Amino acid sequence: MAILKVIAIPDPLLKQASPELKNVGDQTRRLACDMRETMLSHKGCVGLAAVQVGVLARLIIVDVSLSANPHRSSGVLTMINPVITHSSGKTSSREGCLSVPDFIGSVTRKKKIEVGYTDIDGQKRSLKTEGFEAVCIQHEIDHLDGIVFLDRVTSLKTDVFRRQESV
Ligand SMILES: [Zn+2]
Repeated sequence: MAILKVIAIPDPLLKQASPELKNVGDQTRRLACDMRETMLSHKGCVGLAAVQVGVLARLIIVDVSLSANPHRSSGVLTMINPVITHSSGKTSSREGCLSVPDFIGSVTRKKKIEVGYTDIDGQKRSLKTEGFEAVCIQHEIDHLDGIVFLDRVTSLKTDVFRRQESV
């Protein structure tokens, strides 16, 4: 396993849409392991998309159990070619991103989602979730479409904040 370099804006790769992963093999599994290790190496990080480590492929990992606050959590989710099949409600929260290191922003997203995906063993799955976990999955899927949370805020003037110096 290896900790990978995370790219940040204005890297043009972050604006690109990632293509679907055709098959799940050892290379994908190794990438998912490395992404997990990379996520764990950044305190407070709860999700990562492959493009953030420079790989254009529809693969994300999310683990909201790593968050400081207790949330409904499905544990480590490795999602290949994730697609939101149903969604409802609205929720607004502050989001941060390793690829947007200096800012956090208020973003409105769907409150509840159902997402279809392929797991790391190549099995088709579906997950219903809500709240923080649903927000994280939507944030990571956005990366696969070349979107960062700054593209989702209503106003760059009032909804984006400079991140406090971390200790
Ligand atoms: Zn992000």
